[in-house]
Amino acid sequence: MSGKAANDLQDLQYFGEYGGVNPSISDSSTYTFLSAKTMFDTFEGNTEGCYLYSRHSSPSNLYLGEALAALEGTETANVTASGMGAITAVIMQLCDANDHIISSRTIYGGTYAFIKNFLKKFHITASFLNITDIDVVAKAITPKTKMIYCESMSNPLLEVADIAALSKIAKENNIPLVVDNTFSPLSISPAKLGADVIIHSLTKFINGTSDCVAGAICGTTDFCLSLKDVNHGAGMLLGSTLDSMRAASILKNMRTLHIRMKKHSENAMFLARSFEKDGLRTVYPGLSSHSGHLIMKGQMNPEYGYGGLLTMDVGSLENANALMELMQDRKLGYLAVSLGFYKTLFSAPGTSTSSEIPLDEQLQMGLGEGLIRFSIGLDEDIERTYRSIKKCMTDLHILNPQKAAI
Ligand SMILES: *Cc1c(COP(=O)(O)O)cnc(C)c1O
Repeated sequence: MSGKAANDLQDLQYFGEYGGVNPSISDSSTYTFLSAKTMFDTFEGNTEGCYLYSRHSSPSNLYLGEALAALEGTETANVTASGMGAITAVIMQLCDANDHIISSRTIYGGTYAFIKNFLKKFHITASFLNITDIDVVAKAITPKTKMIYCESMSNPLLEVADIAALSKIAKENNIPLVVDNTFSPLSISPAKLGADVIIHSLTKFINGTSDCVAGAICGTTDFCLSLKDVNHGAGMLLGSTLDSMRAASILKNMRTLHIRMKKHSENAMFLARSFEKDGLRTVYPGLSSHSGHLIMKGQMNPEYGYGGLLTMDVGSLENANALMELMQDRKLGYLAVSLGFYKTLFSAPGTSTSSEIPLDEQLQMGLGEGLIRFSIGLDEDIERTYRSIKKCMTDLHILNPQKAAI
């Protein structure tokens, strides 16, 4: 049952214009009509299967959308030019001026900045809460609240949202639960747990090759069509349109997502266990020491594991910086933001991806200065990688050398 998404993806079989095994790429921004009447009807949204203009929809983007709907088990999906393009369109579609949002306090820095700063222009307010405390969330809902927003696994502290519990509150109050599932494609299926809208930054695991930026919105046909409405749709009017060439290349990469997620998770689990044994403060949802471990275990699709992200606190920013530079020199990965790449990526979130969050708020959240976020790669021999990282740490005297002797 839990392998359903991967099976649904596998069953998508398209033919190119000349019988190619990949669908043809639509190399056009605009489309011809044989009759003027059909053009008018298409503008009014009354014709199915007719293309008008590629900001509205294009065959390549629809193929990718279909694959993402299969991944998340939703009726349909729209693709966007970035994850932020997806997030901003969803929020602007669901909220009017003076509305209120309930958001997790541990979310992607860009999303946090958008909700906290940018939405001020529209007098939209937000309560940033510890969404693992369900009572706090329930109490914060007001008549102005238009959505509950969270990440299934949050960036960078890997807090796990109890999606079923949040969905229950959302449904009781007749508001949608919007879940950013960027960190855990296949591992968590938010729609199955009751989420109404699922967002992805395709830039990360789903594409997996760190060569482009893209996003997706998975949901009901009604909601996805409303985003495309030529008069009122935030997708259509804010104009975050994915290029067809990129849609085609992302679709091809998606065909290996199930294999990659398993390997990312397997490698991350090995490293998390090993570093924790070495006495390092390690945060990984697969560890029983993790506060969200049981929730994750209860809601995940087990064959894909606990994901490819882990964080480790090496005590100070100096330690973190020295370690990251040395690991990069020794070809263990890249000192870079982002995630889901085939090589390991590492960064210190406090000074990079979460730098939009003020320092005092960072500390309150448990975002220590010495925190390193790792997006673990697809390394074939993870024990060799472990030994090499550990050697970096002992060379820098980050680990107690006796304890670290291997
Ligand atoms: C990267 C990221 C985003 C933003 O996506 P872009 O493709 O960079 O616009 C949103 N949410 C999460 C969890 C992310 O990691």
